[in-house]
Amino acid sequence: MNEMARSASMTGWRVRRPGPIDGGPLDQVREPVPEPASDELLIRVLACGVCRTDLHVAEGDLPVHRAGVVPGHEVVGEVVAVGSAVGATGTDDRFAETFAVGDRVGIAWLRGTCGACKYCLRGSENLCPRSVYTGWDADGGYAEFATVPAAYALRLPEGYTDAETAPLLCAGIIGYRSLQRAQLPPGGRLGVYGFGGSAHIAAQVALARGAEVHVMTRDPAAQELALELGAASAQGAADPPPVQLDSAILFAPVGTLVLPALEALDRGGILAIAGIHLSDIPALNYQRHLFQEREIRSVTANTRTDAREFLALAGEHRIEVTTRGYSLGMADQALADLAHGRFTGAAVLVP
Ligand SMILES: [Zn+2]
Ligand SMILES: [Zn+2]
Repeated sequence: MNEMARSASMTGWRVRRPGPIDGGPLDQVREPVPEPASDELLIRVLACGVCRTDLHVAEGDLPVHRAGVVPGHEVVGEVVAVGSAVGATGTDDRFAETFAVGDRVGIAWLRGTCGACKYCLRGSENLCPRSVYTGWDADGGYAEFATVPAAYALRLPEGYTDAETAPLLCAGIIGYRSLQRAQLPPGGRLGVYGFGGSAHIAAQVALARGAEVHVMTRDPAAQELALELGAASAQGAADPPPVQLDSAILFAPVGTLVLPALEALDRGGILAIAGIHLSDIPALNYQRHLFQEREIRSVTANTRTDAREFLALAGEHRIEVTTRGYSLGMADQALADLAHGRFTGAAVLVP
């Protein structure tokens, strides 16, 4: 491996005391640069997005999987060392890509699946019960260097800065999978409920594919942004859109919005629910909310195919991403600002 990296130490952040962010659950550490395993790449981190899931890890909302983990799963970096077995064929031949020192790659949330269970075998690796995740089961990108299994490293689109690329790796990929799950017909009418990071990227993908997009959000600034990006209409969170929808995606973690979203669907319409968490859904009325073959679907993580398709699309169609930069040394502040809603756009750590 690269001699410079081997001899160096690095700074990073570890979640030492999971709990409220204002209590300081993370410690800044100075430690040796990690060694990549034979199937891994070592990358120098150029930017790492700050996702709400990192906050769930720091605050202990998610159970501890790796004690003292380095958070961060929207990692843009440059390969500085390649494990000896990378590129060799094995059980995961579809993804046995070759990487070289100097390549620009991304590390996302999904970093391992078993490859052998019925879900993996049918192309639904997002449902693998043995899946593992960056910044939860393994150290992530709140550090100067990070490792990733080469089979889960992602090639990145051109035309974006490192900071702009980082939010594409979680918000972007999940928004894309949600759009796929909503099965919008070509040229169809899409309803978007809630308009944060993931939603505003998914809306831009839908618009690039010729959809008519209607946005429902309580935030006037988000309504304005939706119209600027090309939405046909923007209104309050539970307001009926001006037309019946072919598909809808619920990004806001608000179960009560399932009812107006289903009511807004045309016959055969699909509502995809994007979040990991959703408050309780009130009782449904079969005739008003479901009859005429309307459907509700959940969205669980993503497959590597979703990630590759989305990043290819982002290379073809310019997606506007609003970022707020923090130095790596300010990671705890970035998480606190996220918790308290002190900025708009996506926070990104840059070394
Ligand atoms: Zn599996
Ligand atoms: Zn995330």
